[in-house]
Amino acid sequence: MANLNGRARQENTYDAIVVGSGITGGWAAKELTQKGLKTLVLERGPMVRHLEDYPTATMDPWQTKYPQGQLPSDELNAKYPVQKRTGYTLTEYTRHFFVRDDQNPYTEESRYDWIRGYHVGGRSLTWGRQSYRHSPIDFEANAREGIGVDWPIRYEELAPWYDHVERFIGVSGQAEGLPHLPDGQYQPPMEMNCVEKAFKAKSEARFPERRITMGRTAHLTDPTEEQLALGRTKCQYRNMCIRGCPFGGYYSSNSGGLVAAERTGNLVIRPGSIVTSLIYDEKAGKATGVRILDATTRQEEEFYADVVFLCASAFNSAWIMMNSTSSRFPNGFGNGSDQLGRNVMDHHLGVGASGEAPEFADMYYSGRRPNGIYVPRFRNLGDAATKRSDYLRGFGYQGGASRPGWDRDLTRPGQDPSGPRGFGAARKAALSQPGPWIIGLGGFGEILPYEDNRITLNRDKTDEFGLPTLSMNVTIRENELAMRRDMQTAAAEMLEAAGFKNVEGRDGGYAPGLGIHEMGTARMGRDPKTSVLNAHNQVHECKNVYVTDGAAMTSASCVNPSLTYMALTARAADHAVQARKRGDL
Ligand SMILES: Cc1cc2nc3c(=O)[nH]c(=O)nc-3n(C[C@H](O)[C@H](O)[C@H](O)COP(=O)(O)OP(=O)(O)OC[C@H]3O[C@@H](n4cnc5c(N)ncnc54)[C@H](O)[C@@H]3O)c2cc1C
Ligand code: SF4
Repeated sequence: MANLNGRARQENTYDAIVVGSGITGGWAAKELTQKGLKTLVLERGPMVRHLEDYPTATMDPWQTKYPQGQLPSDELNAKYPVQKRTGYTLTEYTRHFFVRDDQNPYTEESRYDWIRGYHVGGRSLTWGRQSYRHSPIDFEANAREGIGVDWPIRYEELAPWYDHVERFIGVSGQAEGLPHLPDGQYQPPMEMNCVEKAFKAKSEARFPERRITMGRTAHLTDPTEEQLALGRTKCQYRNMCIRGCPFGGYYSSNSGGLVAAERTGNLVIRPGSIVTSLIYDEKAGKATGVRILDATTRQEEEFYADVVFLCASAFNSAWIMMNSTSSRFPNGFGNGSDQLGRNVMDHHLGVGASGEAPEFADMYYSGRRPNGIYVPRFRNLGDAATKRSDYLRGFGYQGGASRPGWDRDLTRPGQDPSGPRGFGAARKAALSQPGPWIIGLGGFGEILPYEDNRITLNRDKTDEFGLPTLSMNVTIRENELAMRRDMQTAAAEMLEAAGFKNVEGRDGGYAPGLGIHEMGTARMGRDPKTSVLNAHNQVHECKNVYVTDGAAMTSASCVNPSLTYMALTARAADHAVQARKRGDL
């Protein structure tokens, strides 16, 4: 479509455009609108309104079509061959929040598990809510070890924005005073159960450097006035969060950022708008807006703004930039460094240990808890005592202890090894008893940024809209494999030190993407020759385009990343508003 003129162009013109409405898009929208900018949010998927559009949120187990909501394998294989790979996310309760893989193809030069949701709110609806800060050593690690490039910021520069984000979204957690896992603005922590408390006491006595704390999670345990005014309430511990929470008990864009943005009167959301490229004005040396493909009419349209925020998630923001070629940017938007699409990182997982706690057979807990315990990183902290000679960086554990319920499968190992099999009275009697206590630890390990771990634009393979698709070529290397060995051993020794029985280490294998923390495809850095974004998330080569999702990450740390994405987004939005006021964009 040709550039619009006159009134039509004016109608499509805003102060700011935000691409994507997930965790980062919601934050960009909130910050920009609250600071007075008329903001258009372009979202490729359909609208999901808080409360109205969570169709399975209150569904009971007996209301599902399939037992336990487990989709039949022919449907999974035909429609969700990638989304099903996590083994825990895709069910009858949740399938509307995940993409159909048959409709959203990409090429796996090496296996890549790209787990996605295309709708208003993105994966802020389905995320696990674990929320930890990167630490000073995370921001210094690349420079210290000569890996990748140096972060252009340090922890202290992001700390006030972590505060700002935590206060708004609400994070429950325990302050621990650890330099390598900085404390934040916390609502009261959730409680450990008796087995977890015993584990903490005994394991910490044996390994004092391996702190065990309650998971820090974006759930309201003591909501603030601001959160209540948005219509959010205290978490009810239903643990059905992934279906969307009518209480607003956990943070999502739909219950938080977008609601706050809408209330300013400065927000317009346009669902069904696939942003295909940035519009670049060579004379002015800046972007003037974006092109979209309307998912319903399949018409192209253009929207204009002084500033554009790419928040479409790490791979999709990179895709938009790769697809935005011009004579100025023949190799992709802002890609003078050739780093666009490179340095893909995730967190490797699927490795840890589990054990049983038979001595607690007469103990139980009431209700559910949408959270677990957390063991902060305890390797390579910068001192001799924690230094490993076989790998760089570190990992944390997430885990917990629980008893499987009435729907446990007695034929599966670990569920009730001593229990009866098959059908009949014995089975019925067994199921009226809680299963054994099982405690598990699963590691989340840091992956280093490797330049040749990359995604590329594949113009030969197109999707249903005729748009080019991505090709993935990402693998883990010796550093990660050595870390995995240690992740398994260290977990087992902690469980054994606590006296648990039948402790088993395991490595179930890992394929990149399975951590659902893809990042690094347009990294921040100090030098335009070796990075795509500057210290404020601006494209080095085009200052009025900001990229604030996982694409911006220069290294991965080992903690769940979304809190950092939100803090970077809030900081960048503040910068954009000030720069626009000064006429610097
Ligand atoms: C099951 C699960 C568990 C997780 N657990 C955690 C956790 O515990 N802690 C944590 O920190 N993180 C967790 N994550 C990861 C977290 O969800 C992501 O890091 C986060 O959502 C990324 O935010 P984002 O804004 O970059 O992308 P998203 O939230 O994915 O949003 C991107 C949005 O952009 C839209 N979009 C894409 N392309 C275009 C386009 N071309 N035009 C217009 N719109 C577009 C998409 O439709 C989507 O709505 C989890 C994720 C999943 C799925
Ligand atoms: S556990 Fe809390 S956040 Fe999750 S669905 Fe229940 S009330 Fe909502």
